[in-house]
Amino acid sequence: MHNVIIIGSGCAGLTAAIYAGRANLKPLVLDGHEPGGQLSLTTHVENYPGFPDGIMGPELIENMRKQAKKFGAEFKAGAVTEVEVSKRPFKIIAGKDTYEAQALIVAAGASARLLGLEGEKELIGHGVSTCATCDGYFFRGKPIAVVGGGDSAMEEANFLSRYASKVHLIHRRNEFRASKIMIDRARANEKVEFVTPAIVDEILAPQGHVEGVRIRNPQTKELGTIPLDGVFVAIGHDPNTIIFKGKLEMDSNGYLLAKHGSLTAVPGVFIAGDVQDHRYRQAVTAAGSGCMAAIDAEKFLEEHKH
Ligand code: NAP
Repeated sequence: MHNVIIIGSGCAGLTAAIYAGRANLKPLVLDGHEPGGQLSLTTHVENYPGFPDGIMGPELIENMRKQAKKFGAEFKAGAVTEVEVSKRPFKIIAGKDTYEAQALIVAAGASARLLGLEGEKELIGHGVSTCATCDGYFFRGKPIAVVGGGDSAMEEANFLSRYASKVHLIHRRNEFRASKIMIDRARANEKVEFVTPAIVDEILAPQGHVEGVRIRNPQTKELGTIPLDGVFVAIGHDPNTIIFKGKLEMDSNGYLLAKHGSLTAVPGVFIAGDVQDHRYRQAVTAAGSGCMAAIDAEKFLEEHKH
């Protein structure tokens, strides 16, 4: 029986573990299928406060992990396959292992969707990115592409135009899912060139870093190549919440909904990080919400001691 189990070991989960650890709760952290979360997929992090020279994402995560361990957090590998939150103690099942806890912090994160192209995953940090705020700065004066046709793609195209010499906005249709105001803003930006309808068939990286993309017009079948240094994939995120369907409240996109702060409608279950945030998605906001969840869990356990 654990006081508190934290599902997820990204920035939110690890911050929750540090706080719960320091509150003497001996939290158990279940790593999940992407240990370290999205920070472990990025390279240089320059906007996390306290690191004027920046820090590598994996190093930042490793530091948080060490810090959590120092305060008594325990870690177990494995992805959670089932949860029972209808009564306490809650039951958390990860493959063959079953755990019980009085409080649960869900910090399972969201995974950025990728295009599914060969070599794409391996090129993250070498020209492929899923986070404009994290990586835009590295493409100063260089041509890049943003792939997608939603608000994220428009926002990222505009944001990246501050750094890049040119932004090719590649979308598979001529119609956009993005709101009109966001499209207008991108269209008014002279550095942004709309490339539609176009499907990215291949990311060209013969030397191990992005040098271009091969595109195809799905209507005319015409093929083309765009030389560029970076590809920002902005085709949406999927929160890792499937196991909570019907158990915790979520919006139509699967993001968990908090009642207040980190509190859910189920007393004793708290949420933190990208699993409940499709707006900010920053390491520092995830850390902040992890802290909130741990403090809320601590208060809950104190109030329900008997
Ligand atoms: P989204 O609205 O779901 O748009 C995803 C885009 O990616 C769509 O244009 C889609 O094309 C395209 N796409 C999906 N899979 C693809 C694939 N395999 N290959 C190529 N293209 C693919 O996602 P989002 O832009 O991340 O936005 C998510 C939510 O956050 C939305 O509700 C959005 O309004 C909100 N948001 C708001 C703001 C803001 O207001 N400032 C900023 C960012 C996000 P199709 O259209 O052809 O399906």
